[in-house]
Formats: sequence, structure tokens, C-alpha cells
Amino acid sequence: MIDRRISALLPVALSLSLAACGGANAYVDHVCGSAPNADKCTGDLDVPSARLEDFERAGRLAIDVVYSDRFTDEVRQFMVAHSSDADLLGAWAGRSAEQIVAGLRSSLVGVRVESAGGARRWFAFKIYGTIAKEGAVASGGPVEINSYAARGMSAAQLAGTIVHEVAHGIGLTHPHMGGPLSKDWSVALCEPPYLLGAIVEQLATNHSETALPHCPRL
Ligand SMILES: [Zn+2]
Repeated sequence: MIDRRISALLPVALSLSLAACGGANAYVDHVCGSAPNADKCTGDLDVPSARLEDFERAGRLAIDVVYSDRFTDEVRQFMVAHSSDADLLGAWAGRSAEQIVAGLRSSLVGVRVESAGGARRWFAFKIYGTIAKEGAVASGGPVEINSYAARGMSAAQLAGTIVHEVAHGIGLTHPHMGGPLSKDWSVALCEPPYLLGAIVEQLATNHSETALPHCPRL
């Protein structure tokens, strides 16, 4: 009796859990940059199968952009113009563009990326707006991108999000969002993780895509 009831409910439970998870995940061992960055590769990707191609493209874009001279130039130009702005000083102090880019380059190689759904992440995204977490990037942990947030993101935006989280992994912060200072989006977007992610997104799309909010000073 109990078994039969359970088996009758199984299809319902299965479809509910599939809806919550958004389908199965796919796994690839790594994705590398394009020439001349073909020897620079991420770690494994464990992401929704429906978005695998976009995540693979995102990994490639992140490596190609961060290893480009234009990226270093853009970071340097922004820092020359704004890293001493009074409201940004705390987040950029003691850093140089060369040091930041070197840190991102070495941390992107081997970085693992996971994207998953489930009820907990649905609430995290819908209620708290959580898009991603850096995991323990410094010790090989995955960047976690909320699959509900990822649904609305292009490959370039995913690439920017990966770089944002890798920036946290090398110790960069946005104290005006999630830190002890007052929350202020317009300032936080100009602090290192958001700014670096925005530069990646812009270079990956030749400045043609501005869907994610970005620093008004960029
Ligand atoms: Zn962040």
C-alpha cells in the first residue's frame, strides 16, 4: 500500500525536482583559450547541459581577454584615472594593474566552474539576488554560478562573472557591497571585482553589449 502510493507519487516528485534543478548537468574536463592562448586552460566545467556551449565559450573568452594586452591597458587606464578617487581608494589601494592582471591570469588557469540549481539556489537568486560565489578559488575550489542567474546571461557576461569571482579569489573586494561600508551600487561597480568583470564583458563583445550594469566611471 505504502509502496504503491510512493510509486504513484514518484513521477510527480521527479518532475518537481527536475523543474527545481533545471535539468541535467554536463561535465567537461577543461576549456582552453584560442591561439596564442591554447596552452592556457581552465579546470573542469560542471554546468547545465543546455548551457554547456555558452559556458565553454565563456571560459575561452575569459582566458583570451585576460591574457590580452588590451585588458592590461584598460585596467591600467582606469586605475590611473580613478583608483585614487576618495570613495574607491580603500578597494584599490596598494594594487597595481600589472599585479592584478598577473594574479587573474594565474588563477584563471585551472579554475573550476560549477553551475547548479535546486531550491536553495532558487531562493538565493530570487530573494537575495545571489549570482555567484568564488568558492575557494585560491585552493582550487570552484567558482559557483547560480544556474537561475546564468539563464539570463550571455557567454560574455558569464566570462565577466567568472573573472569577478576569480578577482575575489586573489583578495580583491567590493567593500561598498557586502562589506562593512555603506552599500552603494554606483561605487561598488567601480571596485575591482565588478570593474574587472565589466572590462572583460566589454572587450569580449567589442563594447557592443552593456546588459549588465557597470561602473559609470568606466
Ligand atoms: Zn563579488
